[in-house]
Amino acid sequence: MSATLAILDWAELGAERQAEVLRRPTQRNAAGLLERAGRIVSDVRDRGDAALREYTEQLDGVRLESFAVSPAEFAAAETALTPEQHAALRRAIGTVTRFHETQVLGDVRVETSPGVVCERMIVPLNAVGLYVPAGTAPLPSTAIMLAIPARIAGCPVRILCTPPRRDGTADPAVLVAARLCGIEQVLKIGGAQAVAAMAYGTESVPKVDKIFGPGNAWVTAAKQIVATDALGAALDMPAGPSEVLVIADASARPEFVAADLLAQAEHSEDAQVVLVTTSRVLAVACVAEVERQMAALPRRAITARSIAESRVLVVADLETALEVSNHYAPEHLILQVESPRDWLGRIRNAGSVFLGAWTPETMGDYCSGTNHVLPTYGHARAYSGLGVIDFVKRITVQEVTRDRFRQADHRAGSHARRTRRSRPHRAHAGPPRVARRARERSHGASRGNCAGGRRMSSVLSLARPDILQLQPYQHATWDPSLERMHANEMPWRAQGDNTVAGLNRYPEPQPRALVERMARLYDVPSERVLVGRGSDEAIDLLVRAFCRAGQDSVVITPPTFGFYKVAARIQGASVAEVPLLRPGFALDAPAVIEAGRRAKIVFLCSPNNPTGNLLDEGLMLHVCRELASHALVCVDEAYAEFAGRPSLTTRLDELPNLVVLRTLSKAYALAGARLGTLIAGDDIVGLLKRIIPPYAIPAATVEEVLALTETPQRAMATARIEALLAERAIMQQRLQRMPVVAQVFPSDANFLLVEFREARRALEAGRSAGLLVRDFSSAPGLENCLRISVGTPEQNERLLAALEAL
Ligand code: PMP
Repeated sequence: MSATLAILDWAELGAERQAEVLRRPTQRNAAGLLERAGRIVSDVRDRGDAALREYTEQLDGVRLESFAVSPAEFAAAETALTPEQHAALRRAIGTVTRFHETQVLGDVRVETSPGVVCERMIVPLNAVGLYVPAGTAPLPSTAIMLAIPARIAGCPVRILCTPPRRDGTADPAVLVAARLCGIEQVLKIGGAQAVAAMAYGTESVPKVDKIFGPGNAWVTAAKQIVATDALGAALDMPAGPSEVLVIADASARPEFVAADLLAQAEHSEDAQVVLVTTSRVLAVACVAEVERQMAALPRRAITARSIAESRVLVVADLETALEVSNHYAPEHLILQVESPRDWLGRIRNAGSVFLGAWTPETMGDYCSGTNHVLPTYGHARAYSGLGVIDFVKRITVQEVTRDRFRQADHRAGSHARRTRRSRPHRAHAGPPRVARRARERSHGASRGNCAGGRRMSSVLSLARPDILQLQPYQHATWDPSLERMHANEMPWRAQGDNTVAGLNRYPEPQPRALVERMARLYDVPSERVLVGRGSDEAIDLLVRAFCRAGQDSVVITPPTFGFYKVAARIQGASVAEVPLLRPGFALDAPAVIEAGRRAKIVFLCSPNNPTGNLLDEGLMLHVCRELASHALVCVDEAYAEFAGRPSLTTRLDELPNLVVLRTLSKAYALAGARLGTLIAGDDIVGLLKRIIPPYAIPAATVEEVLALTETPQRAMATARIEALLAERAIMQQRLQRMPVVAQVFPSDANFLLVEFREARRALEAGRSAGLLVRDFSSAPGLENCLRISVGTPEQNERLLAALEAL
């Protein structure tokens, strides 16, 4: 099989012929193909699964009852791969993830003039469809290239279609790759019918907003068709056959250049390869080398056909070579020249660039880390390769203060009055009308504002996709104006039940009065409040809503409250530990941010249990901002009332990923009531309400808590806190003076962390005085430490005396 690789002298071609040799072969039969693809598309749109079944039988040669890959098929795929193949997939996922994680765009907020704030927020696409072709060679790497940026962007619904094989299964490597990249729904559908199914949705395929991935001419045609239909789906980029342009000088090795050309030509018979060289000697040697290497290739026939369409151009110098390349705008550009990096600045049009003899294009295909879904057919002039940005939208926001609006209104109003009659856009002349409405609104209206709605999708995109789609449990409706015969309750009260509503009735799921009371207590809008059984339940709910078992992780900063870790483990999430820094148990913000980028929730506890110290507020806010599009930051303020520092809830407006936990268990002396409050954006609160177990707060608790948090009760709580702090100070002083004590850590909570010379003896002394303190001596970094909750004066005295006696 011989290939006719023509060598052309660029300078001698003349402008017209030059343009002609750089023109791609016209795509065959484009019109007829569009028409036939169009028929498939409308058929699938109209008839759904029935049409899919027919096309799959006709075009893939297999009758499928169900398109979805079943758990058993995933399991079979796992065992079908060798350990080496598994390892290679994991490596590739690692490198691609590392490179794509750098592409995450942050939100932007600029005050463009006084009182006018403009913002850009990044919101992931809600549902994306990924197409992984099989064709002549299945491409697990394509699954990775599509699924990783989709996962990093946080698209809640990600489905993948790939053609079935004749035996009805899908390529196992594609399945394993998809699974490892967090794709839960894989459908065995190929070609134009897959595109149509994803664009319009069928009984078994969810509708998506955008379709990604390479494919044959049918797939490309179908993507074009559905992208022009507002009811269809957008496409990632226009596509054509794969191509490479190699620029080589006399220093290049012909066998390397030939290998690069062939690696591309091998993809498909309409792949195109171009060599531009400054050396005629090299050109001749490369042509000979191509012939030699091609003879040994398994896909020789395909390769030869594509080589026949390809060209070798001899140019005067590298400047000209770069000009030719920029004009051609190749998908892949390989620079096999001396000092290739020196030429980078000259590149204007290319999908991806491969520098030097040791960077063959196959490095990109097999996952150096860059994306190999790239613009072809000259589209590199205007398009870039796939990245995280293709999976998100940038939504702009503007907000004007009332004062600023009035000023503008004043000026614009007089202008508008002058021009109103002549303006074609009458509605634009309306500032005074709008201004009036603004004036009519009260100050309070800006409190909740559009903040909740605005944030919604970007934070919620971190949540588990299945939870987002979950149909929540339907509580019996709560309508006190009607008598209840709808909840299978007993119609009579139990003997001795004196509660107002009656314990025979289910309580309100999120009791309105209680929610409002907590909102007032913590000075936040009630839409931001979720009440639950202790902050423990809130921690559990967060982990359940945001962490997928076996995939997601949380970050904790030990030594800290133990339940964060346990809640994560129960859910099957992993736990990254970033220890607090000594001295002082300070937050290691850079390390938390680093770990947080790979996690779903970061738990910070301030004041921290068991160390007692507050974390630096600036650092916590910094962590929160840096992780805005990566993770929730849950600041547990269980002990806040003892510290006297304002709560982070005042920052919720600016930090959509912030969650604050408060509890009545400590300062309000109501640990037995089990009442915790989660405070966050109303989007997060709304999501958690959907998964909190039915009727979470017992009616008796509601009544007790309402009674015990009324204004006079709050005054008493303040007095109690002051008494406790006075006791804490006394204990601190006395402990510090004891020879058995190595150090007493400063505390902003209702306990003291104390390092003893011998914790065991101190523990025993307490026990023999009838008192339990908490042993932390085996916690890493807390050798010989005990945590002592401040007790009543009498208890404290008894403990101190027992310790002093040691
Ligand atoms: N967070 C921290 C830091 C705690 O120390 C505790 C309990 N010791 C909790 C939350 C749990 O509080 P609740 O009683 O509200 O469930």
